[in-house]
Formats: sequence, structure tokens, C-alpha cells
Amino acid sequence: MKKILIVFTVLILLGLSVGGGLFFVFFYPFMQKMKHTTTIPYDKQLTLIIGGGGNSGILVSDSAVLVIDTKIDEATAQQLYNQVKQLAGTKPIIVVNTHIHADHTYGNKLFKGQTIIAGGNYDKEFWIKEDGAESLPTVWVKDSLVLNMGDETVTILNLPFNAHTQSDIVVYLHNRKMLFGGDVILNHQAPALFAKYNADGEGYLKAFDLVEKRFDIAEVVPGHGEVGGVEVIDNFRTFFKDMKTASTADASTENALLDKYADYNQIPVLMSPMAVEKWFKNSSAK
Ligand SMILES: [Zn+2]
Repeated sequence: MKKILIVFTVLILLGLSVGGGLFFVFFYPFMQKMKHTTTIPYDKQLTLIIGGGGNSGILVSDSAVLVIDTKIDEATAQQLYNQVKQLAGTKPIIVVNTHIHADHTYGNKLFKGQTIIAGGNYDKEFWIKEDGAESLPTVWVKDSLVLNMGDETVTILNLPFNAHTQSDIVVYLHNRKMLFGGDVILNHQAPALFAKYNADGEGYLKAFDLVEKRFDIAEVVPGHGEVGGVEVIDNFRTFFKDMKTASTADASTENALLDKYADYNQIPVLMSPMAVEKWFKNSSAK
């Protein structure tokens, strides 16, 4: 009995140190990198804040200010909030969350009393459990919503199928031909496909087609990674198609396809090309 206990303890300690090692080698630097922010004064009305969690946009019009996503922690959320307040003054603020994840919603609580929009397929209780009651949206969009913001028209579209989560929103600025993709569109980063949020690899592929068909896109602000043109969507589509192909390919093709994305920003096992391939393997096994 004693022997078993010792073996058990050793195994647990080993497990903890491997877990801890993984944390320090991969997760911690990933998170640190994620917290870095860069402000891009895009034009007179539009400011982009890249990093600090999900990428954000601040669009100022005469009557209101639109804020897309509210960052990942106390420091980045406060920085965003200060920038918004400086640009908005006393104008009403409309926040849009592209999805439920805390790297896009942490700062919601700072916008208390303002409008906070999110996708309508989330259960309120689920949101509270994930992000806390103080970050709860006030408007749930089931289909789409069009906002007239001075000379810009904004379409807020709730995807009609699961992709990154069960209720992903993309935001399109018509005059600027700019799409904010949330985590449905990433630039040079592996996505997180978690069952808890009903992530769906096939949904991503559908989403790329849907946004390109519905909107005339010249500029893409991905959920994470650098701003670019429509090639950001096309590259990410190729990534998904490659992982789908890899999931049924022979070993050498599979390895070549995985290697192609070795330089993607990622966390092994959790958020990696291999994890996406695994999603397709599991879905075809069903
Ligand atoms: Zn994210």
C-alpha cells in the first residue's frame, strides 16, 4: 500500500512539473506576448489597438463611439478605456464583443451603463459563469444589426453557425471596406477550437466564404495578429483546408502540412495546427 502511495505521489509530482514546465515554456510567453499593444491611428475617426488580448477598434462619429472588443486584463482594458474616453468625451459608447472569450471581454465592466452588444446564441447564465455578471452584454444580436455612424455604415453580423464559438460576431465598416473578424479570422496564429464553446472547424470554412460573399473586403483586422488585406482570410482558409487534408493524409503529407505552419503563434496541444487537425480527425470519426 505504502509503495503504491509513493508511486502515486511521484507520478503526481511528475505530472505537475511537466504541466508547470509546459506553462513556463509555452503558455506564459504566449500570454506575455499577447498583452503587448500597438496603437494605430488609422484615420481621423478610426483607431486600431492591436494586441492586449484581442485586437480592438475605436470608431468615433458625431453621435456615438463604437468599440470593438475590450482586451484581456486590468492593464490593457484600462488603457483601452482611457483611449476611448479621450476620443469619446461624453458621447454614448457602443461596445461590441466579437465573442465570449475573456481576452475580448475583460474590459466590459469598465463600460458599465453603456450599450454592450454580443452574439445572441449565448446563454446568459453561461456568459455570467465564464466572464462574470459585470461583463454581461445588454444587447444580443441573433441575426445582424446595422449602425449609422456619421459617414460610416457598420454591419454587426452574428454568424448563423458555430465556428470559433456558438455565437461569433464579425463587424464590417462599409466605407472603409474593413472587416473585424474576431477569432474567426486570425493572422499567423493557430485558433483555439474548444468543445466547451462548440468550436467547429467546418464552420470556419463556411465563415470565410460567407464574409467574402457578403462583404466587399479590402482591409482585415483579425482577432489576433497584424492587420492586412483580404489575403489574411485566404491564408487562414488555406490553413484550415491544409489541416483538414492532413487529417486523412499519409504520414509524410501530414507532417509536411503541419510543418508549413510551424512558425504560427501557438500553444502546443492546446492551440496549435495539430489541435486543428485533430478536430477534423475527430469530426470525421463521428
Ligand atoms: Zn481571442
